[in-house]
Amino acid sequence: MALTRIPLIVGNWKMHLDHFQAIAVVQKLGYTLQDARHSYGVDGAEVVVLPPFTDLRSVQNVVAGEKALRELRFGAQDLSVHDAGAYTGEVSGAFLKALECRYVLVGHSERRTHHGETDETVAAKTLAALRHGLVPIVCVGETAEDLAVHGAAAMPLAQLRAVLEAVRTTAPDAELVVAYEPVWAIGSGHAASPEQAQEVAAALRALTAELLGADAAGATRVLYGGSVNSGNIAAFLRESDLDGALVGGASLDASEFAAIARFQKHVGV
Ligand code: PEP
Repeated sequence: MALTRIPLIVGNWKMHLDHFQAIAVVQKLGYTLQDARHSYGVDGAEVVVLPPFTDLRSVQNVVAGEKALRELRFGAQDLSVHDAGAYTGEVSGAFLKALECRYVLVGHSERRTHHGETDETVAAKTLAALRHGLVPIVCVGETAEDLAVHGAAAMPLAQLRAVLEAVRTTAPDAELVVAYEPVWAIGSGHAASPEQAQEVAAALRALTAELLGADAAGATRVLYGGSVNSGNIAAFLRESDLDGALVGGASLDASEFAAIARFQKHVGV
């Protein structure tokens, strides 16, 4: 792994935890991670939580208000393609930036499946994130049917290509994160094998090199997501093209998420 690729562990809370619960989980997570740093004498991975929109202001306050929690980063699970205006129910990237969000998910399979988001929408959301100085975490992944018919890499590559072609013309030097999440592995308890995840991650990095150049590809963090927990994270982090994880269910429990985040790239602690 290139030295510049700091391991990244991201918790996607989906539509779980209201703002009261969010405060409790963030406090517990921050203190647990701080204790881990002291006990093991290592710098942790970059740890990020992505709460529901309605929790963000509370999370911002908790993180800003307590020294022990300052290293925790947070972001949102979605954003509007628009910056402002008559778009009822939408949330602008500008508003997320004002709340000190650093990251935003785009193209999660649940948005693609339940909200009809196309590759074009995901590309437009990626550009909207970049316009507001947010780092987009671009989710790609194949369904079980795609896996059976076309193999693992075809669909994620097509999804990422749509995003990178848009980025190439408008913001070729922008930081973005790619999350490879096989749809069949999300919430199923059946993670992909580390070997399969590595194979697809390498292909996604090669595509990034083709469209944005070798430097961008070397700096882009590629995550694996889909039924990650504290028992299987180490095996994913051993793979050379995997720089961290996008974690759903296991990120709702502060102890379990901290246990995942404590694993270092190549060195389990
Ligand atoms: C996700 O929601 O992005 C995810 C990976 O969920 P889970 O970890 O629960 O499979």
